[in-house]
Amino acid sequence: VKQAAAQPAADLKGKLKEVFGYGQFRGTQEAIIQNVIEGHNTFVIMPTGAGKSLCYQLPALVLPGTAIVISPLIALMKNQVDQLNAFGVNAAFLNSTLSKTEMNKVKRDVISGDVRLLYVAPESLTKDETIEFLQKATISFVAIDEAHCISEWGHDFRPEYRKIRSIIDGLGVDVPIIALTATATPKVQLDIQKNLQMDEASVFKTSFNRTNLYYEVRPKHQTKKQLIQYVKQRKGQAGIVYCLSRKKVEEIAELLRVNDVRALPYHAGLDPHVRMANQDAFLNEDCDVIVATIAFGMGIDKPDVRFVIHYDTPKSIEGYYQETGRGGRDGLEGDCLMFYSYDDIVKLEKFNKDKPVTERDNSKLLLQEMANYADSAVCRRKQLLHYFGETFEKDCGFCDNCRHPREKFEGKEFVKLALQAVVQTEQRFGIEHLTSVLTGLTNPHIESYGHNKLPIYGAGHDHDAAFWHSVLRQCMIAGLLGKDIENFGVVRICPKGEEFLVAPYSFKLSKDHNYEEEMQEQAE
Ligand code: ADP
Ligand code: ZN
Repeated sequence: VKQAAAQPAADLKGKLKEVFGYGQFRGTQEAIIQNVIEGHNTFVIMPTGAGKSLCYQLPALVLPGTAIVISPLIALMKNQVDQLNAFGVNAAFLNSTLSKTEMNKVKRDVISGDVRLLYVAPESLTKDETIEFLQKATISFVAIDEAHCISEWGHDFRPEYRKIRSIIDGLGVDVPIIALTATATPKVQLDIQKNLQMDEASVFKTSFNRTNLYYEVRPKHQTKKQLIQYVKQRKGQAGIVYCLSRKKVEEIAELLRVNDVRALPYHAGLDPHVRMANQDAFLNEDCDVIVATIAFGMGIDKPDVRFVIHYDTPKSIEGYYQETGRGGRDGLEGDCLMFYSYDDIVKLEKFNKDKPVTERDNSKLLLQEMANYADSAVCRRKQLLHYFGETFEKDCGFCDNCRHPREKFEGKEFVKLALQAVVQTEQRFGIEHLTSVLTGLTNPHIESYGHNKLPIYGAGHDHDAAFWHSVLRQCMIAGLLGKDIENFGVVRICPKGEEFLVAPYSFKLSKDHNYEEEMQEQAE
């Protein structure tokens, strides 16, 4: 790796003040910037709004050559470049919106060494003419924004992103990489590092916990009535309502309007001028509630969003987390309400049926995780953080499951059985198989492994598959069991689980939600 001269810390702070006008680095920004400047591969995983952009913008100012920034969103690219130009930084972009003449000018400026940062869309990057041009340029490093797009296991896979490594190799010089993302499960993280061949990269990961967000899930029942009531209780506050279809967006915006809520729609099917006007109205507080498809929110920095509602069940926890993350950016409370129905999950699964097989299977898995999250009565924050590879020991006290706990029961014996099932099948199987072994299901698969002869086989027949599913999941969230990230879907026992088997202790389990039953109870 090319070694650049390390910048004394004082200079970096000086640049931060001089160019961006900030007095202080946030969190680990300075360490990240130093790492990039020293020429090391760097992987940054930080929630939206944490200040990732600065981590490559500042190094680009102090290193010789041009930094290449790969970013998937053309609209955001232009925003960032405009912003940098306003700070007096020479930045430019290459994408399909430029004319031939404009493109040539950008290329000339880069080759002459004037441009500090060049933003490139992945589609443009893979073109032969772009590669030829990049070979002539002096490149300081490559920044890959939204790096989760590399992974097929993520929620926003872009095939072009998988070519980035070979394109960099084709440049013939050793340029360091900084990859950045706001969402990466441990599995996606591993996949990104493998694909970019940066296993040795320094990883900077900050906690995903957004302590000021309240998470709540409600069954999709009399949803319109619930929505109106919820929004009216928050009169005058800024909020976002996400729907899955454009049609639904229009319908819900209208519903809110006739109920005296200042609401506007936002989706990709609107005339661009109307869409921009609606977005501006929301940012300028001429409207309180924006009803939108997930197209809304990327790169929008409105600090005082007080609530985020998912009118339809989202497609993945990654998406849900990103969208709810737009609430409470100012650090004050943000309420996140999601309406859930298994019908939504089934509907979404149907949309996937024309996709290629791996993509379809992955989408199905992401949906299943979403359904598990909604069904579970375990602290929501614990579940979310676990999903992103963090352990959160205590219940948070600030989510619906903590505020209104479902009845808990002594689970010591069940946990023991669940762990034994993993051990006796030699830590080589997934939740489905373990559940079948526990309940004593017969199928050729189980017989071929001889699992019907294990002591654990059928030991849990008093309870159904859904019950064991829930027990196994709760063992995972508590860190007794873990997923094997190299072998897809395989459940392993963790040291904490081994300790439990040696000396079992009282272990409270919660029953999954049964929303239909709960609704009836409420009605009575
Ligand atoms: P991310 O890419 O992680 O979502 P951004 O890079 O868009 O976040 O930064 C979010 C906001 O924080 C921006 O408005 C940015 O100008 C601001 N910001 C970043 N770093 C600092 C800092 N050190 N001091 C003050 N504000 C900062
Ligand atoms: Zn909680």
